[in-house]
Amino acid sequence: MISVEQALEKILGYIDVLEAKESPILDTLGLVLAEDIVSTVNVPPLDNSAMDGYAVIAEDTRGAGQQSPKYLKVIGTVPAGSISKQEVIRGTAVRIMTGAPVPSGADAVVQFENTDETQREPNSSEIGILTEAKVGLNIRRAGEDITKGSVTLRQGTVLQSAEIGVLASLGRTSVRVIRRPVVAILSTGDEVVDISQPLPPGKIYNSNTYSLAALVKRYGGIPKLLGIALDNEDSLIAKLNEGLDSDLLITTGGVSVGDYDVVKDVLAKEGEIGFWRVRMKPGKPLAFGSIKGVPHLGLPGNPVSTMVTFELFARPAILKMMGQQNWTKPIIEATIEGSVKNTDGRRIYARAMVEKRDGQYFARLTGPQGSGILTSMTSANGLVIVPEERDGVEAGELVQVMMLDWDNAF
Ligand code: AMP
Ligand code: MG
Repeated sequence: MISVEQALEKILGYIDVLEAKESPILDTLGLVLAEDIVSTVNVPPLDNSAMDGYAVIAEDTRGAGQQSPKYLKVIGTVPAGSISKQEVIRGTAVRIMTGAPVPSGADAVVQFENTDETQREPNSSEIGILTEAKVGLNIRRAGEDITKGSVTLRQGTVLQSAEIGVLASLGRTSVRVIRRPVVAILSTGDEVVDISQPLPPGKIYNSNTYSLAALVKRYGGIPKLLGIALDNEDSLIAKLNEGLDSDLLITTGGVSVGDYDVVKDVLAKEGEIGFWRVRMKPGKPLAFGSIKGVPHLGLPGNPVSTMVTFELFARPAILKMMGQQNWTKPIIEATIEGSVKNTDGRRIYARAMVEKRDGQYFARLTGPQGSGILTSMTSANGLVIVPEERDGVEAGELVQVMMLDWDNAF
């Protein structure tokens, strides 16, 4: 048997980063930037007001106070989006709205609250300033966020919502990113039935295709559903051929020792393939190789094993293809509630719900851990790791938990 780390290393050794493509910015969430973004503009483009108020010359407000207003002549108004033609000279002010460019001559903005704006007569031509303003008060400087000519985002950055906003603020409609991998998914098994069909006796619905496709989407890939192959060579070869234009081919089932497991035989004939027994539970049997140049990962058929091995092996492969550098899931320490026995020296990934109480993490096992009990994944946000060299963990021990989901751990 090989370790989880050995299996992952072998898999990633076959995986290359995909090529870059120009994409509309809103399609790039979670993708890796494939170019340096050099700003062609200043953001903001001009000095502008951070407040609704009056653009003034700071010097003119010297000695201003609640009891000693300094009156300035209002020579115009500048709303956001326009540029004032007036120049502020000594003794004058321009009424200005947030975001509007500061008129020439002015060097400070006094917000309405510090003027007699509310008491002012509607057609009065003067404004009373009730506070002293320093030069630069309430002025956002041109280029203070992004300076023209600077590298604003570096190649290799994972684009999140803020980065997409920054691209928009530079006026970029599209950028070069590493493209998303197309991941073909094929379920196998004579007993497996498509969810659009009635369920005959002795059969089960195909859940693996859907849990895997959802995982592929979650991590940024594009799932390509190949459906179900029957446990015979012709059916399997025909389906596999449909997936040869993808970047990664995932099959489920048929890799364990079983009479009808033809996947192994077919793959051995059609491509290069290794069959591994990985020292882990759930999910011991695993196949990896390539079919006509397409990397192929053969996951076990049991619905929980399928999902867990996807997280451990397929997810890193997909992220590597996407140019990501980090494919580790967060691992935290938690006190385990309940005990886990380890009888055969494999690393156990036990489904658990991690919760924070009084500032500490607790991991509650989700009940029966059979690898066919898919609902146990719905009530888990992490996998408690029981090391292969331990014969188990007892309730109350500190354990490591690989978090699948953070959102509901608090
Ligand atoms: P196998 O690895 O092919 O021996 O399958 C192991 C177990 O997982 C069997 O009980 C299968 O019925 C079940 N199984 C295999 N493929 C699927 C699937 N696509 N959806 C749900 N269960 C499956
Ligand atoms: Mg099978």
